[in-house]
Amino acid sequence: MDYLPFTRPSIDEETIAGVAEVLRSGWITSGPCVKQLEQALSQYFGGRPVRVMSSATGALEIALAVAGVQAGDEVITTPLSWVATANVILRAGAKPVFVDVDARTRNIDLARIEAAITPRTRALLPVDMAGLPVDRDRLYDIAGRHGLRVIEDAAQSMGASWRGRRIGSFGDLVAISFHANKNITTAEGGCLVLSDAAETDLCTRLRLQGVVRLPDGGQEVEVAGGKHNLTDVAARIGLGQLKQLDAFTARRRALVRRYFERFDSAAGCELPLADYADCNWHMFQVLLPLARMRLDRGGFIQAMHQRGIGVGVHYPAMHLFRIFRELGYNPGDFPQAEHIGAATVTLPLFPGMADSDVDRVCTTVAEVLRGQ
Ligand SMILES: *Cc1c(COP(=O)(O)O)cnc(C)c1O
Repeated sequence: MDYLPFTRPSIDEETIAGVAEVLRSGWITSGPCVKQLEQALSQYFGGRPVRVMSSATGALEIALAVAGVQAGDEVITTPLSWVATANVILRAGAKPVFVDVDARTRNIDLARIEAAITPRTRALLPVDMAGLPVDRDRLYDIAGRHGLRVIEDAAQSMGASWRGRRIGSFGDLVAISFHANKNITTAEGGCLVLSDAAETDLCTRLRLQGVVRLPDGGQEVEVAGGKHNLTDVAARIGLGQLKQLDAFTARRRALVRRYFERFDSAAGCELPLADYADCNWHMFQVLLPLARMRLDRGGFIQAMHQRGIGVGVHYPAMHLFRIFRELGYNPGDFPQAEHIGAATVTLPLFPGMADSDVDRVCTTVAEVLRGQ
């Protein structure tokens, strides 16, 4: 039987032919495909300005700069995410202030945010884990009452919505990833969705060395920008992917319904929240019953791998990383995030999977956990 990875991008032949055309065109870095992708994304997000980048990490760094986050500021975020979420805060010179997650959603616990706000708090930086949206009504209510900016780390949220409204079509600054594992990809890439014209202009400059081209052919630079532009090769992949997004999301939802039907509850795993409306099902993550297992998580992953099934870990609680412990964080600070971070495994889920692959994963998980 073929090895089943936990994820795999689906690139169609039309996209591959389109990329070949870009490669033959003589213009391979940022050019017409980048413009087209930005227009298509802007349309998708209800007409808001969009700037594509070479990563969502870059988009988050620019978002923090645009929001005016500086040295000495505090930014409230979740300890349960890809470490990019907190690294960008450190790189802005600010302090990541972690708030524990809600056991049900595995996202930042909104009920705990206000207790973490201080006079130095500048922004909230929530993450939609696995594409399950943080409650945007409560989030923006808190931000509004405390005069805080919101930088949505919506890296995993392409195709997700909140109460029927697309993530990215409303809200403050929204960063989305097109990394190879995300719901649509440009191999590497991402975008920032903005709303204000002056901030969009600043974002454009920060994306590429701060350069402004003058009508007389000259240049002006007022801010030290970085190097975050997307190539046309990558943008062409994105154009092909965006057309398939709705089909991808529908397929993910159907596969997840099957997971819920077939998963043997006797295996003792804790399943994620069953949201088929707003969540884009970027990942299917279960919590292992570690206390009742003979194997540890590493042993479980190895046993699955030996049976031809890839399993991921997204993510260990990051306040336990040395770089954040040095800021004063300790084990025990965020019990929910620590519990989930220790027990979580990501099972295979991607649009190219067959129904029978889900059945195979379910049977194999039960078999491994029963110690057969
Ligand atoms: C993937 C991801 C990022 C980073 O995206 P890149 O495009 O790889 O830079 C940031 N935050 C979260 C939650 C992610 O899943």
